[in-house]
Amino acid sequence: MSGSELVFPGEEVAIEEEYLGAEGTFSKDGVIYASQIGKVETDEEECIVRVISPNPPNVLAVGDIVYAVIADVRSTMATADVVGKQGTTRALGGETYATIHVSKISPEYTDDVSKELRKGDYIRARVTAVKPSLQLTTKDQHLGAIRCLCFKCKTELVRDKKGTGLFCPKCRFATPRKLADDYGDVIVE
Ligand SMILES: [Zn+2]
Repeated sequence: MSGSELVFPGEEVAIEEEYLGAEGTFSKDGVIYASQIGKVETDEEECIVRVISPNPPNVLAVGDIVYAVIADVRSTMATADVVGKQGTTRALGGETYATIHVSKISPEYTDDVSKELRKGDYIRARVTAVKPSLQLTTKDQHLGAIRCLCFKCKTELVRDKKGTGLFCPKCRFATPRKLADDYGDVIVE
């Protein structure tokens, strides 16, 4: 079988007498089949056959740095929709609905999520768990809000003089936040 042919799940790719099936394959009655869509790759020295997906799902893993939008703020947590992963422009597969527990927002003690994050905030966060549910933290310096809009007039909020909170340049409304260290000066990596 040629090394560049696209195969579909259930298609025969080799026989077990000649090859050992690796990723992207399954075996039945001595025959190796594709378990996913992809290209067949054979290692003639090791006698291994694989089916390599041309576009593996971009699923989040613990430690990933992500960009997310705060969906809701509750008493003990915020919920967020993950919209991107640092280092890739590819669409995300799998779970993108995440929670951030109140204890994972700021290195300082906080008992009020709404003093740290607000609905609609764009944040940079790190994945701390993917099972049984997607969980994020914004505890580090470089994590937290990266872009926030005034809830009254939708103007982009700017850092206050102390640099620890935000205010609206239009309606002079001040509001606390857990800010990323580069708030207002973000380069998306
Ligand atoms: Zn405003």
